[in-house]
Formats: sequence, structure tokens, C-alpha cells
Amino acid sequence: MDSEIDNYNSHLKGASAQEIIGFASTQFAGRIAFATSLGAEDQVLIEMIAGINPEMKIFTLDTGRLFQETYDLLDITNKKLGVSIEVCFPDALDVEEMVNTHGINLFYDNIENRKLCCFIRKTEPLSRALQGSDAWICGLRRDQSVTRQTVKAIEWDDIHKKIKVNPLVNWTLEQVWEYIHLHNIPYNTLHDKGYPSIGCLPCTRAILKGENIRSGRWWWEAPENRECGLHQK
Ligand code: SF4
Repeated sequence: MDSEIDNYNSHLKGASAQEIIGFASTQFAGRIAFATSLGAEDQVLIEMIAGINPEMKIFTLDTGRLFQETYDLLDITNKKLGVSIEVCFPDALDVEEMVNTHGINLFYDNIENRKLCCFIRKTEPLSRALQGSDAWICGLRRDQSVTRQTVKAIEWDDIHKKIKVNPLVNWTLEQVWEYIHLHNIPYNTLHDKGYPSIGCLPCTRAILKGENIRSGRWWWEAPENRECGLHQK
């Protein structure tokens, strides 16, 4: 698998985001899905995928703890970009048991609880949603955080045992916003209020100018711990 992935990355050296999506759509035809968090990068990717491969499954995870602004964006994205984003939910019994055992705000108590919550509300539903796919697309960029500096366009995702495709791997945040404004793509209004990276409401806060863009996520933890289990980096 490693040599296959190396070959893909060599082939895609210097490729645009659209070319990476096109390549992956052909290579994994009918077996590729896009998991969107509705973040700025993912809004760019939805617009591209809608044009390049409108048949691709696009889905999002509703953890049950999202911002109202995120639900509003989900609705407007479907209407404006002509897509139909599937919404995947966590297992209700698992959430019930977790909350009744550890408390409604368990994630603030310790890192084990936070990771348990992310697993039940995100990782397990993602694994379910990816069943039947050999590859998935996501919006990781290298300059997003210290944990993402070695991301490649095509990677092996050892968590989900699938190929992971990162079309925006080389993009800067400035490029993302230029593309959004140029194509009039809807985006989360929280981005205009100091939230560059948006997840669940209780685990996301606004940041100050100059802070790392992911420093508002799980801000009470050390930076190297701040992944939700969907990605190893
Ligand atoms: Fe739970 Fe917070 Fe993870 Fe959301 S980000 S799943 S609320 S721990």
C-alpha cells in the first residue's frame, strides 16, 4: 500500500485541488466519499466536488453539540450549491450511557473523557458513514496546526483503514478565503466573529489575532493532543 500511495503522490506532484479531486474520483469511482465539517476548507471542496463529481456521497456528522450557525450553514449549502449533504448521527444509546455515567460536560474533566466523547459522537459515526467506501476526502491543510505539518495529498488512514485524500494540502488560509469570496460560497458566520476553526460549541471558542487558528479548539488541552480522533494529524 505504501508504494501505491507514493506513486499517487508522485503522479499528483504540483496538481491543483481540482486535479486531485478528479484523479481520486476516477481512481476510486463509486467508492469515495467526502466527509464535510462545514468548515471554510470543506465549503471550498463541496463547491469543487459539486462541479467535478456531483454523484459523490457527501456527508457530515451531527454530534448533537454543534452551533446553530453550523446548522444554518448546512441548510443554505444544500440550497445554494445544489447538493444533498447526508447527516450522520451518533448512536443514541451510546450517548445516553456516556452522559449518564460521566456527565453532560464530561469533556472538560479529563482528556480520557474528551476522547470518549469525540469517539462516540464523531469517530464511530464516521466509521459507519465510510462503510462501503475505499477512500474519503477531507479538507486538511499543512499549515492548520503543529499536528498537520506532514500531511500529504494522498495518505493511508490507519484509523479507518482507507485512503485519505487531502486536495487542499498545499493551500494557505488566504487561498481558501480568496476562493470562497471569488465564487460567492456560503460560509459559517462565526468565521467573521473570531472563530477560524469550528467544531462543537462547548469545545470551540473565538481566538485573538495572531493565535494559531486551531487554538480555539479544546483550548484547555496541550496543542499536541488537540485532534478529535478523526485524524491522527
Ligand atoms: Fe464531544 Fe467536544 Fe468532541 Fe464534540 S468536540 S464530540 S462535544 S468532546
